[in-house]
Amino acid sequence: MKLELSRVVQGRGRLGVLKELGKTGQHSLEVPGCLLHTHLGAVPHLTRDTLHTLSNLPSVTQVTLSNIAEHQEVLEEFKDGFRRFAGLHNTVLYCSLHDPATPCPTGYNTTKTVSVWGSGGRIELTVAKFMALQKTVQPDWYQSMADGETWQSGTSRKRVRKSVDRTLAHLDECLLVHQNSQELEGVEVFGVVEGGDILEERVRSGRETAKRPVAGFCLDGLQTGSMDQALRTQLITAVTKELPEDKPRLLQGVGRPDEVLACVEAGVDLFESFFPFQATERGCALCFGFDVSSDPELAVVELAEEKTASGETRQNGDSNPADQSRMTSFEIDLKDKRHRDDFRPLVEGCGCYCCVNHQRAYLHHLLVTNELLAGVLLMIHNTAHYHAFFRALREALANDKLDVLKRRVLGEGGGQTERNE
Ligand SMILES: [Zn+2]
Repeated sequence: MKLELSRVVQGRGRLGVLKELGKTGQHSLEVPGCLLHTHLGAVPHLTRDTLHTLSNLPSVTQVTLSNIAEHQEVLEEFKDGFRRFAGLHNTVLYCSLHDPATPCPTGYNTTKTVSVWGSGGRIELTVAKFMALQKTVQPDWYQSMADGETWQSGTSRKRVRKSVDRTLAHLDECLLVHQNSQELEGVEVFGVVEGGDILEERVRSGRETAKRPVAGFCLDGLQTGSMDQALRTQLITAVTKELPEDKPRLLQGVGRPDEVLACVEAGVDLFESFFPFQATERGCALCFGFDVSSDPELAVVELAEEKTASGETRQNGDSNPADQSRMTSFEIDLKDKRHRDDFRPLVEGCGCYCCVNHQRAYLHHLLVTNELLAGVLLMIHNTAHYHAFFRALREALANDKLDVLKRRVLGEGGGQTERNE
């Protein structure tokens, strides 16, 4: 894995390409970018054929140990690794600990163990079990075992310090096993930066992790709902100063476009793409603008008109930010009655299969009658829209148009949406 940065502007983000990915090194991924979020290797609602009708798809597929751990015995018997097991071809496989789209109960980690939650309940992992799993999964890169239970604000300094210490100890143990196992030759490890909302612990975690032979860094415990963006920006800015320039930084659990933009400016390279899936599960279509070639002033007016027409008003303060199931201001609710006779596409000008062939009224009908096709069509559009947003973000960075893009994406200010009822 090799990160080539073409442009770094302090406080304005990093633009580049992550090269030589995968065991044969033939893949690359542009940054800022995101990984392809999957459940056991499949993008929810979409078959492989449908998925590959989309452009801008990332070359890295994310799978999570929380989903895979309960299938360890089957995988061991299969012997050929998760990629072949899931029928994945021509993709880089990244294995993370938790699924960012599924909330993870806290209070179960101990000094020697970390718990993950699959469909069958809790599975306790020691470093030995964690590494045995990595050997059966055979990813191209994986996140080291980490105690990430300190994301809630108000976590004591003592608990946060313990989490940083444990995560470093887990990393050292993982690296020791990794370096002595033939099966993991050529596989890369990402160290995990913890530290809750305590600046000194964040800096210590970043500095210490950077001393280890890791290929990159996962920034954990900064997910949506854990803190406001000003604090998140402050913590990420402080941590990234401690990290080497030439290694990628992956931020876990942040997917909202406004937060993505702010975190890119703070020095983040990679994100997880679970946000389109969450919007789909809410019966919503991503509709935020990111076309910087159009007049930004006009774009703001258009967005305001759309929101006024829909009876949606924005709230700057999140009344319950930890609730990730809540609709955001970057989407429209297609279950809403006003779309019953709305014959426009989800997004005017979008080239995805859903927008080319269907109208909002049809999606509304599918949703209220609980047709499975609703999820399929929404996921096609939401996935296409989200990955196109990342491409627009890279182009904006390359062309000094980040401010224009921010105005376009944020509209009147961004944030969560309250419905007037
Ligand atoms: Zn579309």
